[in-house]
Amino acid sequence: MWNRIRNFIDTYDAFVVTSHINPDGDAIGSEVALAHFLRGLGKRVVIMNSSETPDVLRFLDPNNDIRVTGEEDSRAILDTMDAAIIVDVNNWEHLGNIGKALQYRSLPRICIDHHQGTVEGFAQHTVADTTAAATGLLILEFIRDMKGTLTLPIAEALYAAIITDTGTFRFSNTDPRVLRAAADLCEAGVNAFDMHRKVFGSKSWGAGRLLGPVLSTLESEAGGKLAIISATLEMVNNAGATYDDTDGFVDLVRAIKGVELVVFVKETGEGDVKVSLRSNGNVDAHMLAKHFGGGGHKMASGMRISGSMDHAIKEVTRTCKQMLGW
Ligand code: 5GP
Ligand code: MN
Repeated sequence: MWNRIRNFIDTYDAFVVTSHINPDGDAIGSEVALAHFLRGLGKRVVIMNSSETPDVLRFLDPNNDIRVTGEEDSRAILDTMDAAIIVDVNNWEHLGNIGKALQYRSLPRICIDHHQGTVEGFAQHTVADTTAAATGLLILEFIRDMKGTLTLPIAEALYAAIITDTGTFRFSNTDPRVLRAAADLCEAGVNAFDMHRKVFGSKSWGAGRLLGPVLSTLESEAGGKLAIISATLEMVNNAGATYDDTDGFVDLVRAIKGVELVVFVKETGEGDVKVSLRSNGNVDAHMLAKHFGGGGHKMASGMRISGSMDHAIKEVTRTCKQMLGW
């Protein structure tokens, strides 16, 4: 499974490692672990994303090495790269504007990912394992295959990746494979309590203030099978919060008895809406997201919709009700 990735890495010296817009713990954790590992092999590595690292994940990048496209020197940096490694995303739209920069430079690229529906031509070679709970798990398996050492920074980054995508071993993707991996990472020195606190227990006061207004938008549809919450730009601004501060809100609503599908509609800009979908098992959230041009997994997926919040809520509600047979 890893031969072509290994050959690719042997072939080049300087790599840009990248992931999806609005990177989460799996994206940043996978990138950071891979960067440490490749640097250990003597490679030159730059992590560059289309959007900023969320504040709660900055502990994984203590020296603030992660670059963002659009920064003054980002083009010059990309010009010195030989190849790209894309993790935790498998399509151009979700990769964001760094995708154009990679294509423009015709950088050879490989992709390591666990989402459904890899896009043709996205990379020269893709490791797409949809049974892997997190991309971080795949990076761990790759490092093992390469007989690499699990240093503490690598182990912590991979553990952060895994607890992000499994909701700290609660989601349906939690299986023996990822639990064993987590045990190995703890053996390598990871403190599970400390990491959980950093990833999920480091919310801002803005997030605390935003929770009330957002939860008060809760609507029940389809006889209580569908739960909808929303966050307008006004709510976010009034709370002194940022878009990232809405992380985890969707899971609070998912816990309501009888709810099969949760829709969280977020206004990210004027006429620009981001939707998170969470299923409790009966509805294929990936199929729903795909219908709107997005993607993800069966239980957790997302998409962007142009237009007003009201329009997005109406359209998504209609389609979700149809899927639920209402
Ligand atoms: P979240 O709702 O937490 O942003 O994302 C849940 C899952 O859906 C993640 O696996 C994420 O990669 C995927 N996802 C979220 N938004 C988009 C999107 O706009 N496009 C695609 N292709 N996938 C998305
Ligand atoms: Mn992931």
